[in-house]
Amino acid sequence: MSQAILHDDGAEGARSVAALHVVDINDQQSRAENAVAELLTALGRDVTSEHLADTPRRVAASLLEMLTPRDFAMTTFPNDENYRELVLVRDIPFHSLCEHHLLPFRGVAHVGYVPGDRLVGLSKLARVVELFSRDLQVQERLTQQISAYLTEQLAPRGVGVVLEAEHLCMTMRGAQSAGATTTTTAFTGVLAKDNAMRRQFRLAGADLPA
Ligand SMILES: [Zn+2]
Repeated sequence: MSQAILHDDGAEGARSVAALHVVDINDQQSRAENAVAELLTALGRDVTSEHLADTPRRVAASLLEMLTPRDFAMTTFPNDENYRELVLVRDIPFHSLCEHHLLPFRGVAHVGYVPGDRLVGLSKLARVVELFSRDLQVQERLTQQISAYLTEQLAPRGVGVVLEAEHLCMTMRGAQSAGATTTTTAFTGVLAKDNAMRRQFRLAGADLPA
């Protein structure tokens, strides 16, 4: 952070918050590295070998990256033309970490809304999916959180969220059901009440569940 920005923001407050953040991230990285080394040792692996020497650092950095959403501004615009139909963005790719096994689940999100007085930049729908998917999650909660956030931010007439994902904890271990996907849905407002409107969501998304 430059001196100019520190000065503009009111010096000490900005400086101390920034410094705290840096220390916190470094502390997380080094604690996670130690924990990964301990985990590998517990699994009977030799972390002093040349092959594994840098693995704890890489694993810790990967996990921190996957659990940290990028900042974004939820830009909205007035709905001056009074658009009252469905806005749907299909096939938004996402990945998350299952909170029960720390294994990835990944797939696509279809996110739509029927506007009230505000519209949102379309790319922001993908950023909202990322905001909640970069966390330890279950697919059901992720679906609800995306829906609730859009409802809170946009006060739309309705929201529809459909997630389709493959869970590696289900396809690579346990049931070992390779290729199985899980679908979760959240429909609110007119998309929950109005069958014709929900059918529109399904038709626009062709193969989505009703
Ligand atoms: Zn799992």
